Amino acid sequence: ANKQLEALAHTDPLTGLANRRQLLTDARTLMALSRRSNSPLSLIVCDIDSFKQVNDTHGHELGDRAICLVADCMRKAVREIDVVARFGGDEFVLLLPGIGSREAQIVAHRLNELVRTATITDEKGQQLKLTLSCGIGQWQKEDSRFEDLFLRADRNLYAAKNSGRNQTVANISPAALQPSP
Ligand code: GH3
Ligand code: MG
Repeated sequence: ANKQLEALAHTDPLTGLANRRQLLTDARTLMALSRRSNSPLSLIVCDIDSFKQVNDTHGHELGDRAICLVADCMRKAVREIDVVARFGGDEFVLLLPGIGSREAQIVAHRLNELVRTATITDEKGQQLKLTLSCGIGQWQKEDSRFEDLFLRADRNLYAAKNSGRNQTVANISPAALQPSP
């Protein structure tokens, strides 16, 4: 029973992925490891596109199934040492030790292919398609907190959403951060 309680404290009950709390613990360790070994660490933040519409059209039960499907794709897209977490709602993260920007883009591509080819059947027997928007951030030596890394990736996610969704942004030019006129 104690073990079960332990697991619950670290796991998202719907998907079985690490929860935010576990992510923060793992991130602290992996950031320290990267600092010590001078190795890269990438973060990919992903959010399901127009997910409110999925809930509104097909109900929360199918919405929940969609979240679990994306969780499975995330697990399939990475190695065993990577951290896969549900950050909350329809937002997920991958924390990839030893992986730099180029490789992180390959992982994001693999993930998007898995999500693109995965389908769920709705109440009318019709196939439902999901897409993700992703932002990639690189850990930097100056980062003292996980939030520093997270914000870098999250800004790129925001840019991906703003540029029409269903895409990954790894780095945005300062110009892209200016509010549009
Ligand atoms: P965007 O493309 O901008 O991300 O649009 P969106 O509609 O996906 O907007 P947003 O990401 O803000 O919406 C997330 C929605 O996810 C809102 C909330 O009702 C729904 N949601 C959050 N958690 C759950 C859950 O556990 N199950 C279900 N079915 N829905 C959830
Ligand atoms: Mg969303």
